[in-house]
Amino acid sequence: MVTQYKNLINGEMVEAKGWLDVVNPATEEVIGKVPACGKEELDRAVSAARAAFKTWRKTDIEERRAAIKAIAGAIKENGDELFRLLTSEQGKPHNQAQQEIYGAAGMASAQSTLELEEEILQDDDTRLHRHRRVPVGVVGGIVPWNFPVMMAIQKIVPAMLSGCTIILKPSPFTPLTTLRIAELIADKVPAGVVNIITGEDDLGPMITSHPDIDKITFTGSTATGKKIMEGASADLKRITLELGGNDASIVLPDADPKKVAEQLFWSSFSNAGQVCIAAKRVYIHEDIYDELSQAIADYAKTVTVGDGAQQGTGVGPIQNKKQYERVLELIQDAKDNGYKFLTGGDQDPSGTGYFVPLTILDNPPEDARIVAEEQFGPVMPLMKFKDEDEVVARANASEYGLAGAVWTGDTEKGQRIAEQLETGTVWINEFMHLSPFAPFGGHKQSGFGAEYGKEGLKEFTYPQVITVKKDNVVA
Ligand code: NAD
Repeated sequence: MVTQYKNLINGEMVEAKGWLDVVNPATEEVIGKVPACGKEELDRAVSAARAAFKTWRKTDIEERRAAIKAIAGAIKENGDELFRLLTSEQGKPHNQAQQEIYGAAGMASAQSTLELEEEILQDDDTRLHRHRRVPVGVVGGIVPWNFPVMMAIQKIVPAMLSGCTIILKPSPFTPLTTLRIAELIADKVPAGVVNIITGEDDLGPMITSHPDIDKITFTGSTATGKKIMEGASADLKRITLELGGNDASIVLPDADPKKVAEQLFWSSFSNAGQVCIAAKRVYIHEDIYDELSQAIADYAKTVTVGDGAQQGTGVGPIQNKKQYERVLELIQDAKDNGYKFLTGGDQDPSGTGYFVPLTILDNPPEDARIVAEEQFGPVMPLMKFKDEDEVVARANASEYGLAGAVWTGDTEKGQRIAEQLETGTVWINEFMHLSPFAPFGGHKQSGFGAEYGKEGLKEFTYPQVITVKKDNVVA
């Protein structure tokens, strides 16, 4: 019998009238059922969050920190069970699922130490000006399927710390681990502060347009982000949008192919390329192009694609059928156009599981769909460049602006190039490193606002200025 996972509303684990199936992308078997919530369940969750907000907003920050640490502790203590469940629903290999689970617990603990201190803007004989931050209210959090636990924590923690309450909606493709965490934390957080409800994609717009929700924090595609911005405009809800990307990695001629090949490989293929900040376009200087592209292709041949639960698997399946078909379509388009493949291009969609061979393209043109569009799959286009200005222009020629990387022995030069890139984050000689204390957010169509650090926490608050005029009331 398939396990039925419940939702968390007002401190209790509850069911809805219907159920949704959740599928393991490696085996295509149904591995769990989750409640199919609609307006009625959402209204209940919003009422609970609204009622809890009245008291939660007034709690001492130490009490909120303690509740967040209890969540982090519950995740850590049950890490073994949780990472296996995450692999079974998301597809990522066990080692990457472990990184997500323990990373989420670590992020939660670290971020619980953040604080938005009150500022005194003026204090003299005439006036006292206090600038403080107050919680926005009830938050709707909507997350995608590529890092379901990390993204859920990234919504829940700053909401709680700022004094807000939250209704979180996992992706219908990957709700199981989040609901298991809901069960583990139900008695560790006051009723109504954190509510987790599941449903089809149509539950998202119900959250976005709900009149009693004050803010939406969303991670997902740019197309959905635009719909959310539109929906939230009806009552001017506050929004934070973490959206898609087409990140460029730039490898300068002084980088040692032997040292960077493996790191570059994982910058594109980690989580089967389903990472918003994966390197989706890799520009290599012509002096080292042949040696480095060969080294990356050789390394790819040592990595096994398969079920993430099997020992030795380096890259798992695509998480869902729709995304699988999209990635296959982009690869087919590259084949139809005669682009050269160093590896991959020979997928067989008839087998079980949404597996795509590791696909490395040899210098496709800039306007190839597989270069210009966000692939979100195990695909790595390698492209040659001659000079710095040219590669900066090519990297910036995108509607996206999430992140990027520069690989070089000359870190000063790397930073000069980084300063010219139109993205929210640039790494020099690494990739995908996110700090709990550094703001992360996209430029252009990759987002609106930021997460992490004080900047991220501020997004769950309004500024409030209290001005005291001195000595003009009493004699
Ligand atoms: P998606 O936009 O299809 O779905 C994300 C979430 O939105 C899901 O929970 C879904 O049910 C919900 N949703 C769908 N339609 C909605 C609507 N009209 N209104 C409100 N909610 C709605 O994205 P996805 O396919 O799950 O995730 C992949 C995308 O997420 C990629 O584009 C990736 O780059 C992006 N992403 C961005 C970041 C970041 O931090 N910038 C991180 C991870 C993923």
